[in-house]
Amino acid sequence: STVYLNNQFIPSDEARISPMDRGFLFGEGIYEVIPSYDGQFIGLQQHLDRLLDGLNALAISAPLNNQQWIDLCKKLLASNQGQDLAVYIQVTRGSGPTRQHAYPENSTPTVFAFAFEIPAQPIADKNSAVTYKVSSQQDLRWKRCQIKSTSLLGNVLHYQQGIDEGNKETILFNTKDELTEASSSNVFIVKGNTIMTPPLDNQILPGITRHILLAVLREHSQFNIEERVISYQEVINADEVWLTSSTKEIAPVIQLGEHTIASGEVGDVWLHAQTLFSKYKYQY
Ligand code: PLP
Repeated sequence: STVYLNNQFIPSDEARISPMDRGFLFGEGIYEVIPSYDGQFIGLQQHLDRLLDGLNALAISAPLNNQQWIDLCKKLLASNQGQDLAVYIQVTRGSGPTRQHAYPENSTPTVFAFAFEIPAQPIADKNSAVTYKVSSQQDLRWKRCQIKSTSLLGNVLHYQQGIDEGNKETILFNTKDELTEASSSNVFIVKGNTIMTPPLDNQILPGITRHILLAVLREHSQFNIEERVISYQEVINADEVWLTSSTKEIAPVIQLGEHTIASGEVGDVWLHAQTLFSKYKYQY
């Protein structure tokens, strides 16, 4: 495949970076995953805005301007095979003269991007919904989860523990037994006429799918939409639980640990939400 590394489009097996890169030594970088279907990106500008927020949080000056990021994303789609592709972008601080924690005086950020094939877009149909049985764990990551950091060890450990328990994801709760998010997704719950998700703070990533879904539901549905603290008890007693992420869109959770969610079947509200999301997702 063709990848982008520091201003060049090259075959992936020719891409080289220094082992002194702080992305390698410290996991010091920011990344994005931007989905596209049939050549059309979803939430491209929101992903680029979040990338910039992350770079600002790390005091890394943006290596490309907005139009250059857009051109890069389009060029990766054009130069790679595959029906539906996501673009992965990673920016690290680059390398310094030696391994030292302090930011080096002048380092040049490393920019790496590639396209990879993703599953066909979810269809709003109960029978073809990809459902999730998930583990439940105490959130043991750090207190800056709003930063889309390439340091994903905490997330990887949670995710793998879910896999080891025979599940496909892991939903996380803080020490107060409040829902945060999942190891690679945001979480929504439904109770009666209300659709809820935890508020944006340092405990969760501000997911673009979360953002688009909230906007679509507020504009196009009659449900009460709440961003508020959600307890463990509320999750296990919910009518429906969903995961959201760029590559999953909205995915029904049918089991959390020992607890079956409601009847263990894909819910009507999911069907409604995924129908609206599929219809309006390119407009945000
Ligand atoms: N939360 C975490 C920890 C993630 O890694 C992701 C990324 O997939 C999400 C939430 C969902 O974010 P988005 O909808 O922007 O893909």
